[in-house]
Amino acid sequence: MCGIIGIFNSTKATELAMLGLFAEQHRGQESCGIAVSDGKYIKSHTGMGLVKDVFTPKIIKKMNGHIAIGHVRYPTRGSSEKKNSQPHIVETLFGPSYALSSNGDLINYWEIRDELEKEGVFFASDNDGELLLKYIVYQIEIKKETIVDAIKNLIRNIKGAYSTVLATKNELYLFRDAYAMRPMCYSELKNGSIAVASESVALDILNPKWKKEMKAAQILKISENDIQEFQIDPQEIRSTETEKHCIFEHIYFSRPDSEIFSENVYKVREKIGALLSKDDVEVDVVVPVPDSSNFIALGYAKKSGKPFELGLIRNHYVGRTFIKPEQTIRDESVTQKFNPLPHFFEGKKIALVDDSIVRGTTLRKIVKLVKNAGAKEVHLRIGSPAVKYSCFYGIDTPTQEELIANNMSEKEICEFTGADSLKFLSWEDLDKSVSRPQNYCKACFNGDYPIK
Ligand code: SF4
Repeated sequence: MCGIIGIFNSTKATELAMLGLFAEQHRGQESCGIAVSDGKYIKSHTGMGLVKDVFTPKIIKKMNGHIAIGHVRYPTRGSSEKKNSQPHIVETLFGPSYALSSNGDLINYWEIRDELEKEGVFFASDNDGELLLKYIVYQIEIKKETIVDAIKNLIRNIKGAYSTVLATKNELYLFRDAYAMRPMCYSELKNGSIAVASESVALDILNPKWKKEMKAAQILKISENDIQEFQIDPQEIRSTETEKHCIFEHIYFSRPDSEIFSENVYKVREKIGALLSKDDVEVDVVVPVPDSSNFIALGYAKKSGKPFELGLIRNHYVGRTFIKPEQTIRDESVTQKFNPLPHFFEGKKIALVDDSIVRGTTLRKIVKLVKNAGAKEVHLRIGSPAVKYSCFYGIDTPTQEELIANNMSEKEICEFTGADSLKFLSWEDLDKSVSRPQNYCKACFNGDYPIK
């Protein structure tokens, strides 16, 4: 998943970047980093863990500059090591220097990396961001392209999802893949600085004058004088007629207070919940698996007229279950993470709402927890269709073999979880939950991968 941030023209660039990364911490908790330019040098600091732990006041004090870019990482390609943290840097003592942060995954990573390695380009990590940066620097330094032309070549030749920010000593470049798969927006702040982020929530806390979404295959060059726009026709590149935004950003990944792909995330989630509640069983109360399902459950409750209750309490100091890379760590954190309200569930029929089922192991434990707390019936209501295929565009879903819906029928999944009934969001209702359904990737549900 990952989150990016970029700040241009602020004496507090590092501090603002850090604030933005705080707002995007939910997009990645493995590692984080900031690179800052003072016009002469680009300095960077990266570390494993959360923004608040990596960026101490002592570190921040050393990172002066007017341009900063940052990143929070959620591992997809590349191991969970510091070498794979971003931003990536290419710096020369007296020549140009570059720093890059990106969100997404590349499809032809090895093909492009092999080509560059044959030309003598060295790679220090296995991370997509480094490939993007080295591709650009190779185009500039060896092929003598301008930065904008280097990025245009990248967009035409590198396949995959990438919402990217590139800093030089004095300029900031923003670009996005032709499918606009991962979110990316930018704004002018009230202090005159320019900011770019994965999610609008990161811009909201920086006091924006206006906010805009980056277009597919668009490049913005931000310099002291102006913002220049360069647009490649996405149809030159895409195999699909429309953009293909990740629908899972609405279902699970993005914060509910973000506006992405021109829709309010919380409204999409409420709509999903309302659609899910149609012609459903009689329950006493609607309970979300917090936090990502809160608004889906709220939509369900509003439409069905049943009370919405926060019967499960989440410990916020344990990381997001789905993000933990090891199964053993994931298993431990489920029981540490949720606790039922005392006596709340006793004798009640519950609509237990979750956003998705991936492996099914987490939900099985939660159903057991709720039943042990005295629930009479637990009806699982899932705010997405069954996840049957892996994602190759920036989400670390398990292999297809590990996905429960790939191995079991709906009835078998219901039995596995121990629930009294199970209902997934239907295909038709998934399409009704967003205003432009044709503009979304749904490959993890239907296997129809837009980028091959
Ligand atoms: S495959 Fe699923 S998770 Fe991946 S981009 Fe498409 S909709 Fe999103």
